[in-house]
Formats: sequence, C-alpha cells, structure tokens
Amino acid sequence: MVTDEQLEIRALAREFAAGEIRPHVEAWDAARELPGEIFEKLGELGFAGMRIPEAYGGLDLDIASYLLALEALGWGDPAVALALAIHNGPVPGAILAHGSEAQKERWLPELASGERLAAFALSEPEAGSDPGGLEARATKTAGGWQLDGTKRWVTNGDRAGLLLLFARSGSEGGEGRPGGEGISAFLLPRETPGIEVSGRERTLGFSASETVTLTLDGVEVGDDALLGGEGEGLRIALGALEIGRAGVAALALGIAEAAREHALRYADEREQFGSPLSGFGAIQEKLAGMELRVAQARALLLDVAGELEAGSPGPLATPRSLRARCALAKIAASEAAMWCSDEAVQIFGGYGYMRDYPVEKLMRDAKGTEIFEGSNEVLRMLVARDAVGGAD
Ligand SMILES: Cc1cc2nc3c(=O)[nH]c(=O)nc-3n(C[C@H](O)[C@H](O)[C@H](O)COP(=O)(O)OP(=O)(O)OC[C@H]3O[C@@H](n4cnc5c(N)ncnc54)[C@H](O)[C@@H]3O)c2cc1C
Repeated sequence: MVTDEQLEIRALAREFAAGEIRPHVEAWDAARELPGEIFEKLGELGFAGMRIPEAYGGLDLDIASYLLALEALGWGDPAVALALAIHNGPVPGAILAHGSEAQKERWLPELASGERLAAFALSEPEAGSDPGGLEARATKTAGGWQLDGTKRWVTNGDRAGLLLLFARSGSEGGEGRPGGEGISAFLLPRETPGIEVSGRERTLGFSASETVTLTLDGVEVGDDALLGGEGEGLRIALGALEIGRAGVAALALGIAEAAREHALRYADEREQFGSPLSGFGAIQEKLAGMELRVAQARALLLDVAGELEAGSPGPLATPRSLRARCALAKIAASEAAMWCSDEAVQIFGGYGYMRDYPVEKLMRDAKGTEIFEGSNEVLRMLVARDAVGGAD
C-alpha cells in the first residue's frame, strides 16, 4: 500500500520532471550532456540526498518514496535518473553500511547537498559481469595506498566529486583467475592527482549521461580512503548493488510508464481507415500488454521496496534472498521498459522511427537498463541459483 506521503514525493518529482527536465530532453540528448544547473536544482530540492540520514544533511526518505521519485525522474529523463540512482544508491549505501564515522562526516553532507556527485567505478575493460576478475591495483605505501589501473563505463565519471572505486589490494586468488578475495573498496576525491578521463563513450541511449573511462596512474591516497576492511571490496560492491538494482528498476519503470503514456495518447489521436488506432485489435493487444507489464513491474518493485526497508523478503516472497529479489525487480522493469518502448515505436509507425518524436529515445535508453547494474542474463543466473538453493 502506497502512503499519501510517498505519493506526494512522487508528485513533487513528476512536477519537477515535467517542468524542468522534459522540455530539454531532446536538446540534452543531442548535445550528449546534462547541464550542471539541473544537478544544482535537484540538490536544492533535496533529490541529491534522498537516502542520506538527516544527521548528515539528507532527506532520509524511505525506500519506496526514493524509488517512486526515481521512477518519476526516469519518466522525465532516464539519463538524469541514472545519474541520481548511482549518486543516491550504491555509493551512500556503501558508506553508511561500511564507513567509519569520520568517513560518513567527511562525505555524506557533500553528497546530500549535491556539492559532490558520486560515481561507482567497478567495471573494467576485461571485467564486467565478473568483477572478481578486476585488475586495477592498490599497493600499500607508508602513509596509505597507490592506485593504478583502468575503470570502464563509469557513469558520472567526469562530473563526479567522489569515486567509490574497487581495486585489487592483495591475494591473486587461485585456479588461474584472480578471484574476489583480494579486492578492496576506496573513496577517492575526483580531484586526486593521477585520475584522468581517458575516453568518453558514444552510447546507443543514455546519450546525455557521462559514461567514461578513467585511468589511474600512481594515484596516492591516505589510509582513510579505504572503505571497510582490506579485502572486503567485492562484498561491499555486491551489497551496494542491491539498492543500485532497485534504483535501475525504478528508472526503467519510468521509461515503461512514459512509453505507455505516449502510446495511449497517440493511439487515441491518430486515425487510419476512419478509426483511431486504438480501435484496432492489434493495437489494443499492444496497449494491454503495456498495462500488464507496467503493473507487474510496479507491483514487484513496491514489494521489494518494502522488503529492503524491512531487511528481509516478505513471507510469500520467492526466491528468499534480498539480492535475488532486487535482481528480479531489475529484470522485470528493464524488460517492461524494452517491450513497452519497442511497441510504442511500432504504434507511432514511421513517426515513431523519427528523432522528432519521443519514443525512439525511450527505446534506445531502455536497452541500457537490460545491460548495466548486472546484465539480465547474469541476474537470471543469480535468481536461479538462489531459487535452487532455497528450494524446500
Ligand atoms: C551506459 C552504461 C553505464 C554503465 N555504468 C557503469 C558504472 O557506473 N559503473 C560500473 O562499474 N559499470 C558500469 N557499466 C558497466 C556494466 O555494468 C557492464 O557493461 C555490465 O556489467 C556487463 O559487463 P560487460 O559489458 O563487460 O559484458 P560481459 O560481461 O562481457 O558480457 C557480455 C554478454 O555475455 C553475457 N554473460 C556474461 N557472463 C555470462 C554468464 N555467466 N552466463 C550467461 N551470460 C553471460 C552478458 O549478459 C552479456 O550479454 C555501465 C555500462 C553501460 C552500458
């Protein structure tokens, strides 16, 4: 059951998205950039600190409110919502779960105000689905650590003020592959000397989002940059990805919802053979399919929001781990986004294929949500393993 307070947060985010985001989406997409002012405005309204406790300057929203706000921002522009999903989700989540009090005081207020945007740097050129194979190095020095390596596809990577970055500090593992045991997590101010943006991707969708390669060359940080214990990095990353995947599910639901609304309106307005498109059975089947997928994805996401809040899956939930439940929500919402946007393009016909109409961009963006924050194939593997492991 969604509360009035949660609906108010969603309405506020929708209003902001309708007034401040949607009118500019086409221009931002073409320019492949989000303007700094949008982050300033989001910060002023508290959207930069949605999950940060009030003691550190955040709004301390419950998880359902947070996800409803992200959905509304994703409805406005998925690129904006992705930037905020990473900023509000895995990074502060990891700091709150594993940071010292000094680290919380150092970083959370600046994240909450939007003064620093956060980025999550796990993937590498040779380590995507399998982060246990990452090769960036963290070498112990007298006063801290030296970091070297390459991080690929870092969202917010250039604009960010704070990087949560994962590097190999120890054990090489066994059986011919590096393994996850020796990975540690580090909090790096983006301005630390030696961190360079060595490439900016030209992506199919999320064009305005910054997807960059970061090169670390002799980057020196103090001992206070280590988040959690040495060698705990992979566990921290995988834990942080629970809220991260719920966030991507929410923004993907925003894409599905936007596609659904555009398709309904167009199918009602456009006439062929003397009838609105919405009068034809083939189109009705598509519209009903959109209703079904949006409703299913939303119901699952709201269930998972409650489970994350409670810290455990609900009594009837399957599979039985929160990790698998978040994966399931991400699969359902991203596939709803892909299906709905594809069918919306089809309903718009030739106009749908044109850049002048909004639905082709939704389709380009939707594809990304099936790949990042864990590809849907890898998440299905995770879900199946948990289901088999938890079977009676
Ligand atoms: C727009 C965008 C933004 C991103 N932002 C970030 C970010 O901010 N931070 C970050 O760390 N990373 C980010 N990524 C990286 C993203 O998380 C990876 O692309 C993703 O995890 C997949 O890794 P990969 O691309 O190396 O594909 P691979 O791991 O090489 O996989 C290729 C294909 O094989 C499949 N596959 C792999 N292993 C298996 C298996 N065991 N069983 C079945 N199928 C398998 C995959 O599903 C995929 O279809 C971003 C990616 C994109 C596209």
